[in-house]
Amino acid sequence: MEQIFNNLDQGIIIIDKCGKILMGNDSIVSKLEFSKCEVVGLNIKEIICKDDSITNEVMSNLSMYIQRKSKIKLYSKSGKKKVFNVTVGKEEWKGQDAFYFILDEDILSTNYTKADLERILDEIPYGIWVKNLNGKYVYVNKKYAEIFHKEKCDILLCTDYEIWHENNSDYFKGIDDEVVKFKKPILEQHKFYGAVNEECWFETYKAPLLNKNNEVKYTMGISRDITLSKRLEEELARSHKNMITLNSMITTSDYDAEAVINNIKYDLINRLKADGVSVWIYENGCSKLKPKITFGLSEKFINDIPYVRISKEQFSNMSNWPKDGVIPIEDRFIRQNLIKDLKGEGVKYSGLYRIAFNGEIIGVVHTLYKDNNIYSIKNDDFIKTMCNHFGMIIKNDMLSKDIKCELSKRKEAEEELQLFLDTAVDLVAIVAYDRSFLRVNSGWTDILGWSEEELYSMNSYDIVHPDDIKLTEDIVEELKEKKKLRGVVNRYIAKNGDIHWIEWSSRYIPERQISICTGRDITKLREAEEQKETYEQALALEKVKSEFFSNISHEFKTPLNIILTTMQLIMKNIGSNNQSIDEASILRYMNSIRQNSFRLLKLVNNLIDITKIDAGYYEIHLENQNIVSVVEDITISVAGYMEEKGMELVFDTDVEEEIIACDTDKIERIMLNLLSNAVKYTSKDGKIQVHLKSEDKDIIISVSDDGIGIEEEKIDKIFERFVQVKNNLTRMCEGSGIGLSLVKSLVEMHGGSINVESEFSKGTTFTIRLPKKVLEDGRYSMESKDMSNSKVEKCSIEFSDIYN
Ligand code: ADP
Repeated sequence: MEQIFNNLDQGIIIIDKCGKILMGNDSIVSKLEFSKCEVVGLNIKEIICKDDSITNEVMSNLSMYIQRKSKIKLYSKSGKKKVFNVTVGKEEWKGQDAFYFILDEDILSTNYTKADLERILDEIPYGIWVKNLNGKYVYVNKKYAEIFHKEKCDILLCTDYEIWHENNSDYFKGIDDEVVKFKKPILEQHKFYGAVNEECWFETYKAPLLNKNNEVKYTMGISRDITLSKRLEEELARSHKNMITLNSMITTSDYDAEAVINNIKYDLINRLKADGVSVWIYENGCSKLKPKITFGLSEKFINDIPYVRISKEQFSNMSNWPKDGVIPIEDRFIRQNLIKDLKGEGVKYSGLYRIAFNGEIIGVVHTLYKDNNIYSIKNDDFIKTMCNHFGMIIKNDMLSKDIKCELSKRKEAEEELQLFLDTAVDLVAIVAYDRSFLRVNSGWTDILGWSEEELYSMNSYDIVHPDDIKLTEDIVEELKEKKKLRGVVNRYIAKNGDIHWIEWSSRYIPERQISICTGRDITKLREAEEQKETYEQALALEKVKSEFFSNISHEFKTPLNIILTTMQLIMKNIGSNNQSIDEASILRYMNSIRQNSFRLLKLVNNLIDITKIDAGYYEIHLENQNIVSVVEDITISVAGYMEEKGMELVFDTDVEEEIIACDTDKIERIMLNLLSNAVKYTSKDGKIQVHLKSEDKDIIISVSDDGIGIEEEKIDKIFERFVQVKNNLTRMCEGSGIGLSLVKSLVEMHGGSINVESEFSKGTTFTIRLPKKVLEDGRYSMESKDMSNSKVEKCSIEFSDIYN
């Protein structure tokens, strides 16, 4: 009998009438931590809890409690209180009256059977199993059997090798062995391929079950399907990778939260066993809750609901939110909006779960159920975990989109700047204080042909044109002083040896001792400008020449016409035997022919002289002469002419005699030219003065008039060849515009110079400076040559273009 008692799970204590313990079975002895012999002989009163009224009640009225269930509290050997359900019996034990206590350790104050326990374990959404030391399953719950799409009984007494793939089984066995060997629990995650070859992840807690001798009797395990979290984790890792690889984020446009959630949508809908799932995100900017992802039934009606308008306060205010979870569809405000008339589809329940991140609600997950599927709607905790993940993914996505946007804006701005730099300037360089290049743009290669490496390995002055080194040093000094410089130009040598003109705008940053320089290649511009200048000069010369030729032909034509018509007149008179033609008329005609012939002669002379000077074989014949008398003589020779014109001519000199080496002929040409101009451009009652004075090294001869003068802007040009200053007044006189240029050449041949001062409408003064040089071996002719005749002729020639 005692043997039987020892095999029971329940504890058995047998006492005699006085309370002395006659027997305690194995179960109770171990529960109270005594050894068998210690228990036998003890009085039950020594181990009952005397403070407990129920226990006292039972113990003092044992007969009353026979076959009645009650509770009793006992102390273990170490003094721990233990509660037992107790049933009292009265029987004979080894020939004497005795009371039996049948003791069940009280757990929930209810009596659970093994079947109850199994039912509970079957409800748990985790796979639970127990294996014996041979690796055979001695217990599995329903969830665990479902993993293999099997019944519980199909798995019992099988090993892993009979239900898992061999690789998995080896792995599991390894872990089980470890648990047994070290008598310690292990938590492990394991990937495997399910019945339809789908990838699954499980997390299993494995622990040893020990017997009272601390030996491993069984191994047990609790397995949880973590496939979905794993997939999310992988997606999160991917998004994280994208986050940190900012560059790739700009180029990979395919990543977003919707894609991540879409990737797991079938897992999610399977797991939830819902008929429809939608994920809604709240957009703060427009106060709208918008559906982002829809599966199953939810897909059907989402097109009708582009958004639900909810104010930010209403959306984020917790009091508007009932507890997350599944309830009948009629119930809630937000839900009403999210499901509309879905009743037609047979939807009866809906689940609503907040997606929150960092305390802020950013959206909701909405599930739809056609019927009250207890299993499905018991998944709240799982969904909440999912929602947290969603929160992270969505925030992550929003953040990455913001960053992407910012980066692309920045990139755009940078590109614009680069474009601007590339188009606005040709060269960009950052130059260090030691003249080395710190940074260069592509222009240096495109324009000058130097590669970046070449430039970085040399000094910036190495490619400056040697003649511009000093200039460049000065520019750099100025830049350091002023911090900014614009429009400075120097030359650079290209790799192929070409010279480039670069115009720089530079900035000096003293704190970093660097100069930032932007340059424009103006070589072509310069060349074009130079060409333009030469071209313009040539054009101007051509213009002057053509003007000259039209003038000169006019100059030739006018006297020739006069001569021809006069001669025609004479011929006519002779031919008609006209007696009326008197001597005076003939003389007048002849004078006119003479004057105009002289005018032609002057022109021809001037042209010949100019041509000779240009060709370089015009000669002057220097003689030591008294310049004072040469000038005086020629002046006086035109005095009569002036008088005739009603003009006053004054000759005045500070020196009586000054011997210098000169060509009398040429001096006369000079003087006659200046005097004839003075007459030409002076009115009738005008005054002309010739003045001579001697200075240290020079003789100064000036010819002044009080005539029309020369306009200021034209004054520089009158000595130029072919120039005829045109104004209305000059029209009254004739001229070829080569007289003064000849005068200048003649003066310069004497080693002298000529200049002019004039005030418009007041008068003009020409001043000649001749050096007081004499010919060493030259003799001085005391007498001036009698050239009165030739002088008169010269005057006539030079004055021939002046008409009365
Ligand atoms: P031209 O044969 O036309 O006189 P010149 O070479 O002698 O040629 O003179 C050039 C121009 O200088 C003249 O056309 C005239 O406009 C100006 N000029 C020269 N001398 C005088 C002066 N004394 N007063 C005013 N203008 C003068």
